[in-house]
Amino acid sequence: LLQLFRPLDLLGMVYRMIRQGLIDMQAMFDLMDTPEEIADRANAKPLRVSDGLVEFDHVSFGYEADRQILNQLSFTVPAGQTLAIVGPSGAGKSTIARLLFRFYDPQQGSIKIDGQDIGKVTQHSLRSAIGIVPQDTVLFNDTIGYNIAYGRNGAGENEVVEAAKGAAIDGFIALLPQGYDTEVGERGLKLSGGEKQRVAIARTLLKNPPILILDEATSALDSRTEEAIQETLNNIAEKRTTIIIAHRLSTITHADSIIVLDAGQVAEQGSHEKLLAAGGLYAGLWRRQQAERDKEKAVV
Ligand code: ADP
Ligand code: MG
Repeated sequence: LLQLFRPLDLLGMVYRMIRQGLIDMQAMFDLMDTPEEIADRANAKPLRVSDGLVEFDHVSFGYEADRQILNQLSFTVPAGQTLAIVGPSGAGKSTIARLLFRFYDPQQGSIKIDGQDIGKVTQHSLRSAIGIVPQDTVLFNDTIGYNIAYGRNGAGENEVVEAAKGAAIDGFIALLPQGYDTEVGERGLKLSGGEKQRVAIARTLLKNPPILILDEATSALDSRTEEAIQETLNNIAEKRTTIIIAHRLSTITHADSIIVLDAGQVAEQGSHEKLLAAGGLYAGLWRRQQAERDKEKAVV
């Protein structure tokens, strides 16, 4: 009868949700005290980030055995540069972020940071080095201040406020009944998608990681807020290795290099200007998005 309760199923489900949401699950596991599916090797050493060079070397990956998502994917993000990844929905863009954070191990190939295989370093050190602003942010049932401060252990009040300013959410918080002490999450104030995204950005500003992943990080924001935050994001991206996954191409024209992901491989790569001139997939996508934008403007 006891088997009717399947706590492991539930944990498995929670685990998958966390993994999909790409929130820093280290703390979650500390809380839940459960073994992780991906374990540190017995002789795992801490990752040492010197410059922040990221390499995917012939990486193949599928969630299920019979369906490959990434197919011998190779690319390099030179230290301190910004690489943008675009491609149709379902192409495997977020999967790249999940693999770099080592929520999964590739079936073939390797992923390296400054020459160290991420499968051989401690997960804690790996995840400390990477900041992710995910597509969907999960908030803790705690205060909004806690949810931002979570970006870095021992962050002071001033730092939390600075991070909130950088993410353009300080004004919103100032209007809350209890300011930074307002409870949010399932049992508190429900935040909109855009507000949650700004909390995630504030968290990441506080974490100040050497490697940054923005996974459609501004997709839930209205275009005015997006513009306001874009400048902050560009500033923090400038000083570190950054991977930007983007739907709206207008937000990535400044990237050092752009990859168009198709069928699990790099279909095109180059700067915005170069890809436009090449007249391929990227150029077509750009034309379509520009046409849509012009149409929207005409309506307004
Ligand atoms: P993108 O971010 O480019 O839209 P994803 O990387 O999220 O795409 O997903 C790539 C493909 O993998 C999609 O077809 C998606 O349905 C599938 N997928 C994502 N997560 C899982 C999972 N946990 N189990 C099985 N398939 C998944
Ligand atoms: Mg995605």
